Amino acid sequence: MDLVKKNEVYTIDITGMTHEGQGVGRIDNFTVFVDGPVEGEKVEIKIIKVKKSYAIGKLLQVLEPSSDRTEPFCPSYKRCGGCSLQHMNYEASLRFKTNVVRESIRRIGGLENVVVHDTVGMEQPVNYRNKAQYPIGRYKDGIRAGFYAKRSHEIIDCATCTIQHSVSDRVRAVVKEYIEKNNISTYDEITGEGLVRHIMTRVGFKTGEVMVVLVINGRNIPSQKKLVDRLVKEIPEIKSVVLNVNTKRTNVILGDENIVVYGRDTITDYIGEFKFNISPLSFFQVNPVQTEVLYRKALDYAQLTGKETVFDLYCGIGTISLFLSKKAKRIYGVEVVEAAVKDAWENAKVNGVENAEFIVGEAEKVIPEMYEKGVRADVVVVDPPRKGCDEAVLKTLVDMKPERIVYVSCNPATLARDLKYLAEGGFEVREVQPVDMFPWTYHVECVALIEKK
Ligand code: SAH
Repeated sequence: MDLVKKNEVYTIDITGMTHEGQGVGRIDNFTVFVDGPVEGEKVEIKIIKVKKSYAIGKLLQVLEPSSDRTEPFCPSYKRCGGCSLQHMNYEASLRFKTNVVRESIRRIGGLENVVVHDTVGMEQPVNYRNKAQYPIGRYKDGIRAGFYAKRSHEIIDCATCTIQHSVSDRVRAVVKEYIEKNNISTYDEITGEGLVRHIMTRVGFKTGEVMVVLVINGRNIPSQKKLVDRLVKEIPEIKSVVLNVNTKRTNVILGDENIVVYGRDTITDYIGEFKFNISPLSFFQVNPVQTEVLYRKALDYAQLTGKETVFDLYCGIGTISLFLSKKAKRIYGVEVVEAAVKDAWENAKVNGVENAEFIVGEAEKVIPEMYEKGVRADVVVVDPPRKGCDEAVLKTLVDMKPERIVYVSCNPATLARDLKYLAEGGFEVREVQPVDMFPWTYHVECVALIEKK
């Protein structure tokens, strides 16, 4: 296509958005993707890349702004890859997410009659994250701790991150100052040398308890007692300080070994009435307020009467299992990470839940085996990672024909693909409820109700 030329400036109408929030427009019939515009805007762009079937444009100016446009509240918005929807107001970002889900169900799932409800937003869509991970490094202008710039590993320093719990900023500031003043080395990804790699915080929203994890390329920090004293004095909510040893040359943030240098090895938080011990490495939903909204919807969709056998596939530390346990006869959780299964048993015990059982293994292996042995579920909950359910899981569900399937998903595309499979296998997809678990990012969580025909 020689009509669209690199470095040329064009005026285009933004007629759609990708699921990642990029604006889509056309030059004649050639598709152009642009970071920054809102659907419905007329913008001036410069073409920076031309591919065979599409081009990438850079936003130069918005000529006719949408009424949904708003000024991003974060000063780091342009450089950070995190909150890509801050240039639209919150209501518009929720409408955007609902649309992404509707379009996926229709286009990928081929399902026309599924009710997709409006996305449930947060009353206060700020300070919602209970876990922060700040990379730290030394630059010519001093120590920086914050986030990686979009599509790069340059660390950008930021004093506050509005989506994090405010205590995380306070921890970050204390550690950063300590490292700066005491000339402690920071890890260099290129040479593999230097000590401190990441500052991680976890916060129990209901208990107020804080865990600080310092990820280091070594086993101790010079005069670490002074650092710990300082942290605990400035931030009394800290109940646990852990050194996480990561000496590997990898992008993976956490290593396998934890050394507790202050307080306990876990902090506690609640989802609903259930209490969970959270250790440095265990998976725990990052937005506890919306997690409760999501789980309540899952419980609602499960329509349990107390007589049912329930499978909770991809159960993590058993959060959904416990949430459903009071209303079910028996629950089997299946999870591939052994440590998570250990936590799940522990969490069941702590909460006095006696009708839940947890099995280590891949759902695609465990479920066909259980089915072979004659174990049947009345209700199945699945909450797979982004890639969705393995086909062997879906096939077994089609054979097993439970009354209901409740599908919790963090990826509308794989959700839609799997719903199609189930619809073709004798199930009816009733409704989908998107929940805004990650305000301002393009991510959206869904829960779907699927019933036997
Ligand atoms: N339901 C839990 C966790 C959901 S995250 C919660 O709400 O907290 C998805 C989980 O699936 C992770 O714990 C991951 O370890 C697990 N997982 C990934 N692949 C799996 C597989 N093939 N079989 C079983 N579990 C798997």
